[in-house]
Amino acid sequence: MKCTQFEKMIPDFIQKKMDFVTLESFCRHADSCENCKEELTIQFLVTEGMQRLEEGEAFDLQREMDLRMEQAWKTVNRNNQCLKIGTLFEFAAVAAVTVALVWILW
Ligand SMILES: [Zn+2]
Repeated sequence: MKCTQFEKMIPDFIQKKMDFVTLESFCRHADSCENCKEELTIQFLVTEGMQRLEEGEAFDLQREMDLRMEQAWKTVNRNNQCLKIGTLFEFAAVAAVTVALVWILW
């Protein structure tokens, strides 16, 4: 993912409107690109900060930003595991059908 692309997606990330695939490359970029991570943090602080000021809540946004990234990674990893298990099941299903066919046609 390019930096310009990343920047355009920041609002989607903050509003949690991202699909898994995008989320994964987004997280990877944030982890490997200091500039974008900083940009993301700033936008997060501004967007969420305005919201909280309106709601009058106490907050620690830097910490929340870290938590948000952590959550995003967990979501990505969980989804990847699901995909792997899904592939495994598919493979098992295909194998079972093949065996059945061989059995019937023999
Ligand atoms: Zn970047």
